[in-house]
Order: sequence, then structure tokens, then C-alpha cells
Amino acid sequence: MKLIILGPPGSGKGTISERLVKDFNLLHVSIGDLLRKEAKKNTALGKEISGYINKGNLVPHHMAVKIAKKAIKNKKNFLFDGFPRSIDQAKEIENEGIDLALYVSVPEKEVIKRLSGRLLDPVTGKTYHLKYLPPPKNILKRLVHRKDDTPKVIKERFKVYHQETEPVIKYYQKKGILQTINGVGKTEEVYNRVKMIVKKLK
Ligand code: AMP
Repeated sequence: MKLIILGPPGSGKGTISERLVKDFNLLHVSIGDLLRKEAKKNTALGKEISGYINKGNLVPHHMAVKIAKKAIKNKKNFLFDGFPRSIDQAKEIENEGIDLALYVSVPEKEVIKRLSGRLLDPVTGKTYHLKYLPPPKNILKRLVHRKDDTPKVIKERFKVYHQETEPVIKYYQKKGILQTINGVGKTEEVYNRVKMIVKKLK
């Protein structure tokens, strides 16, 4: 099973992906997570990556594609989370035989609310929200806000999303493999909508 999950920043892609990969035994390929891991290293490449992420820009095409292709090499079951984020990236994986692209649809007002209360666990890379997805109390102290979850950077991420990533939704629609999911509601409800669709593929 080869899946892609698309949606605006804060739509719940990461949270849905974590559950999907467990339930369907898929490799979780989150380009954002892989980039954040690299950015943590005090190397020239790490610093370059931080520069893009912290401004809300996409990393250069060749860099994202290289990471994505390396991660799925010879793999038959995976979930791409946050890739492709542009038509050019989508074309790079045209021959991979993607079965399904899930588009999590959430109004912009709602995602902005979610992003401002979002917390990241730097140890596991998991994302929480004080109101919508409360973290276990014992890890509360170590949670941090993502540097790209500030109002200024959020604005830039949305600009990039509208310009670069939204066309990818139409691209998969034309290919006939897009399924749109209403991403508004309780985590459990949204996940069940997704699960029902993915189950049909099996
Ligand atoms: P995410 O965790 O998916 O919100 O991604 C965080 C940041 O990583 C994005 O704002 C980009 O700077 C970078 N990034 C993630 N995925 C890609 C991609 N497919 N292409 C380019 N940059 C990416």
C-alpha cells in the first residue's frame, strides 16, 4: 500500500499518519520530521535546513526529493506525510504507483487556532495540543513550541501552501486517486473517517 497524506499546516496529517502506519503496518515517511532531525545537528546542512524551516519556506527541490526517494527505496508499504508539496515533487514520484492520496480538509481559521496551541515533544517528535490533544502529564515539562508555529511564520507557510501545495490536490484528483476527508471534529472521529477509506484498499 502506497499512500500520501495532504492538507494545510495544522490539519492533523501527522496525528492521523501516526495511527495509520500502526494500523496498516506502513513505513511513516514524514519529510518534516526527517528535516527537523537533520536540522538539530550542528552541521552546515543542519543550519541551512533550519533557515528554510524557521522562515516557513520549503527546502530546495533536490533536497526534499533526495530525502523522500531514499526513504522509500525498495519499499512496498509506506505513507508519505508532507510530500509531495509541489507539482514538481509529485512528478518525481509519478512512477512509484501511489494507490491513494488522502486530502485532509480543514478551514484556515480552524487550523490557525490549532497551530497556536500546538506543542512538540523533542524526544519522540510527537505533536500535542493543550486543548485538542492533551499530552501525558509526565512529559509536559519537556514540550516546546515549534519555531515555525509563530504568527509570522504561519502566514508564510500558508502562502507557500496555497501557491505550491494546493495544485497537488488537483493533480491527484485528475489521476482519480484522491479522497477528501473532513478534518474537522474529534481526533477519533476524523481518524475513523480516514480508516474507513484506507480499509477499502486492502
Ligand atoms: P511539516 O512538519 O510537514 O509541517 O514540515 C515542516 C517544514 O519542513 C516545512 O515548512 C518545510 O520547511 C519543510 N518541508 C517539509 N516537507 C517538505 C517538502 N516536501 N518539500 C520541501 N520542504 C519541506
